[in-house]
Amino acid sequence: MKFDYIVIGAGSAGAVLANRLSENPQSTVLLIEAGKKDKGMNIHIPVAYTKLNNSAVDWAYWSEPQKEFLNRRLFLPRGKTLGGSSSTNAMIYIRGNRLDYDKWAALGNAGWSYEDVLPYFKKSEDNQQFQNDYHGKGGALYVSQTGYKTVLADAFIQANQELGYPYNEDVNGEVQDGVTRAQFTIKNGKRWSTAQAFIKPALSRPNLTVFTEAQVSRILIENNKATGIEYWDTKGNKKIIQSNREVIVSAGAFNSPQLLMLSGIGDKDELKNQGIPVVQHLPGVGKNLHDHLFFHVASLASQKVSFNNAETLGNLLRYFFSKKDLFL
Ligand SMILES: Cc1cc2nc3c(=O)[nH]c(=O)nc-3n(C[C@H](O)[C@H](O)[C@H](O)COP(=O)(O)OP(=O)(O)OC[C@H]3O[C@@H](n4cnc5c(N)ncnc54)[C@H](O)[C@@H]3O)c2cc1C
Repeated sequence: MKFDYIVIGAGSAGAVLANRLSENPQSTVLLIEAGKKDKGMNIHIPVAYTKLNNSAVDWAYWSEPQKEFLNRRLFLPRGKTLGGSSSTNAMIYIRGNRLDYDKWAALGNAGWSYEDVLPYFKKSEDNQQFQNDYHGKGGALYVSQTGYKTVLADAFIQANQELGYPYNEDVNGEVQDGVTRAQFTIKNGKRWSTAQAFIKPALSRPNLTVFTEAQVSRILIENNKATGIEYWDTKGNKKIIQSNREVIVSAGAFNSPQLLMLSGIGDKDELKNQGIPVVQHLPGVGKNLHDHLFFHVASLASQKVSFNNAETLGNLLRYFFSKKDLFL
């Protein structure tokens, strides 16, 4: 079996790449995903997202003991299904900061300045609220502010303003600073993951093939060129697929460097310690991870205004029949 492009990982990045690459009917594209299809109900009900942690659609990683946290280990959820972490995340639509993109460009990454990436954000977006220089309409990614307003959010916004933080209606616009009501990738009461937005509309293309439950174990490299992949199929057998043009590694912030190292690309001493033949000494691979910590700050509410008691029969019926109300 041979494809022009092999895209490893059907997450936020891989879904978009598979869609865009298969727009050209002359190119054959394989999108290969370790997780299952995104079928579980909890994936699609926005407020159920916390139930996805440590579930069948989560890699459910734990950090090493962190000395800054009294040697506690931190839970590191990552989506493992079509849509990747966009099928398990909190659905808040928030772009990176202009300064970060500009820094990447200044470091020599041509095409990554904010002015360079903004047209792609706009092309992708179907924003329901904002129509201006920073937002797009008609793209695949549905973005909206939720109609559901809680008194807790109002109080939080007010408290921030009392502390001197400005209210910013659009933190994806000209300025990112300030307190806001989040914009979400939720459409008609359902999670609008990259699987919904980018994979499903492309599935009918004959030049796009999607494998699920297929975990890539190694990138095949010949003469310094990626020529294909080795993966485990659903029966645990190792198989090989060749690529005519490119192998794209979009397996997420943890698994992409892991896969590169399994393929011999990384710090040569670490690779040797693991018995992996060195293809390319690249000491930065798998280093300097920056992540936001995953922990909950819980408070007792004096009134019934939280999501804590959300799962009542009345709320479920209202959600399933009207696709709105408490479940966003
Ligand atoms: C719990 C949680 C909440 C979050 N909330 C938000 C939020 O509200 N807003 C926001 O903007 N961001 C949020 N994020 C972050 C955001 O979801 C990620 O930054 C983004 O999805 C990463 O995209 P990616 O394509 O790099 O990786 P992923 O979307 O994680 O995709 C990687 C894919 O590769 C697959 N894969 C991995 N290894 C292999 C392999 N060897 N072979 C085959 N497939 C493989 C994985 O199963 C996965 O499907 C959250 C993340 C988490 C985990």
